[in-house]
Amino acid sequence: MEKSVVQQIEKLKKTHNAVILAHNYQRPEVQDIADFVGDSLDLSLKATKTEANVIVFCGVDFMAEAAKILNPEKTVLLPDKTANCPMAEMVDAESLGWLKKEHPDGEVVAYINTTADVKALADICCTSANGVKIVKSRASKKIIFVPDRNLGLYIQSQVPKKEMILWPGVCRTHHDIKKEEILLLKQQHPEAELLVHPECQPDIIKLADHAFSTNGMVDHVKTSPKKEFIIGTEQGLCYRLEKENPGKKFYPISTAICPNMKKTTLEKVLKSLQTLEPKIHLSDEIMRRARIPLQRMMDMK
Ligand code: SF4
Repeated sequence: MEKSVVQQIEKLKKTHNAVILAHNYQRPEVQDIADFVGDSLDLSLKATKTEANVIVFCGVDFMAEAAKILNPEKTVLLPDKTANCPMAEMVDAESLGWLKKEHPDGEVVAYINTTADVKALADICCTSANGVKIVKSRASKKIIFVPDRNLGLYIQSQVPKKEMILWPGVCRTHHDIKKEEILLLKQQHPEAELLVHPECQPDIIKLADHAFSTNGMVDHVKTSPKKEFIIGTEQGLCYRLEKENPGKKFYPISTAICPNMKKTTLEKVLKSLQTLEPKIHLSDEIMRRARIPLQRMMDMK
């Protein structure tokens, strides 16, 4: 009898001593075959702790790159090599270099959603889970924050004493969440708590009960006495929330789908384990320089 795709993946995982890491926005069937599902910070930490020789990263390119930078001796696979983050590509190393020259007294905090070249110019990285804590911890009063302007504005609202120079990047999946839809969902589900991601626009965050990273939402929902939640982030998170919280209800935002996060399929995961491709390749020098800000962030966990 022919083995199912899932059975073949399981077998090849053992053959190659591989681990599958999946972001919270991945398709349900991909989340189901993963060894760990989490947000960028969680998965970066998992990547440093794994004993596996091969990491299959079901997410987008900057996440797989971060796993490679933290584990240069391991093979890191990105099952669809075109799965990128358009926001990460909104800032390039050359332009950031110019901005640094304009603000020599500023420290660069790079969201983990950046290319390895950009990380190599940063003082420290952050994620949406720890951005406020990281910015607060910096000695300099002036922070150059790249690339997500909405996350930068949210951090600025929590850390008003810092002067933040914000790059004009956005995540379209979050930036395009409409106030009208949020208001309609609130009207339809008056008992529901509204949780939003800090990549949303400030007027959406103002309407929310809480702004959290995706793992922040997962932790909050587990302990909240509330039974209904409007989830202001990419829809993929609702699958994990439903699976882990039977009896609670989640209302997604109709437009919040990241096409790049949906590129990874079971068939592509299987193919990448069969061929050990597409591999992440980065130069040793870029990895050495990008590891410094990433490691500084990890040390603050
Ligand atoms: S959801 Fe936004 S930030 Fe995340 S990968 Fe997609 S485009 Fe990038």
